[in-house]
Amino acid sequence: MNDEAEIIGCGPFLQSPDSALRPLRQQVFEHVRALGRVPRVQVAKDLRVSPASVTTITSELIETGFLEEVQAPRVGDSGRGRPAVALQVRPGVHHVMGMKLSDIHHTAVLADLSGRVIATASKPREPGQLSVEAVGDVTEALMREVCGAAGVDAASLRGLGLGVPGFVDADTGLVRWSPILDLRDTDLSPTLSQRLGLPVHIDNDANLVTLAELWFGAGRTMSNFAVVTIEHGVGMGFVMNHRLYRGAHGMGMELGHMKVHLDGALCRCGQRGCLEAYVADYALVREARTALNLPDLETRSVRVLLESLFSQAKAGNPAAHSIFRRAGRYLSLALANVTNLFDPQLIILSGERMRYDYLYAEGTLTEMKTMMIETGRAAPKVEIHAWGDMVWARGAAALALETLTEQMLGAGREMAAQ
Ligand SMILES: [Zn+2]
Repeated sequence: MNDEAEIIGCGPFLQSPDSALRPLRQQVFEHVRALGRVPRVQVAKDLRVSPASVTTITSELIETGFLEEVQAPRVGDSGRGRPAVALQVRPGVHHVMGMKLSDIHHTAVLADLSGRVIATASKPREPGQLSVEAVGDVTEALMREVCGAAGVDAASLRGLGLGVPGFVDADTGLVRWSPILDLRDTDLSPTLSQRLGLPVHIDNDANLVTLAELWFGAGRTMSNFAVVTIEHGVGMGFVMNHRLYRGAHGMGMELGHMKVHLDGALCRCGQRGCLEAYVADYALVREARTALNLPDLETRSVRVLLESLFSQAKAGNPAAHSIFRRAGRYLSLALANVTNLFDPQLIILSGERMRYDYLYAEGTLTEMKTMMIETGRAAPKVEIHAWGDMVWARGAAALALETLTEQMLGAGREMAAQ
């Protein structure tokens, strides 16, 4: 994975329409990082600027240690035979950390400015809500563990991207509500930043898995796509014009709380009829407790109960099967609504639970198509990405890299303390 990241690059291949407003040095750097290795002449062509400007900018970027020259085979061989000089992001500098905190385990990755993953770690945790102090303890411990394994000084880290489930204001670092925190309205990012002594950027975990798709996955070549995450809750991230859409207060795209039923099932947000209340873990478990005649039903963990429900459905238990089928129908309703509202090229269904194939069976997609408005367009492609938790942490690292790049090379560079 590491070598691959160096060569194929990371970050969106295509820049958003407002990227022309960024300083040319940032555009050049981000273009090189996206392509992995690229000759100067190609950079000039792609960014539609003169080769002389690119030469000046790349000299500056090489001198300041952001880029380096490498020998590379000629792209579109012109027959001259000698290897071309290509540019790449200098590896092993400006490290950042990405982490995801969750109900079951915490995960972390260490990456450098090129986006290369250097080390990873995962720590199981006891269930229950955490205080801000406990979040500080766990992030600090994970940070030290991953840095220690990689031989990187934790004090040299340039930023931490952190994903938490819930309602997060990414601009201010305020967590309005999270199922893993014991208090509402927590100043998580400023508090952690002070404790850890580095910039901390937080976002809701669905946005981070979407950033991971935009930086490292299927979304790199897409201008408009959705990622729907189905875990303990239901989340969504949306990339609009090559950029993550967050809404005015960073709280948009709460697909899990989109109403799919008036006066419907009770959701953990306190309202009724939310999608989550029909599709998420706890909704399936609620139904499983009623329908399945299992011993020690009350004492089983959510995970074990879901596994039992799934195996019962597979074995032909009609009650178990109908629970998944109903959840799948609600999911198809939600996906049709997303398509009708946003017209994405691609919808990625992401999360550990993707193995419960009853939810994502062909029937779900057929049903989704019946609820899409008739416009003559093709239905968006729906892909299932059953990636582990590490992808969320990689998205968190991408958030830290995005911000660090902006600070070091963006319009605000002169203001940032180096
Ligand atoms: Zn709700």
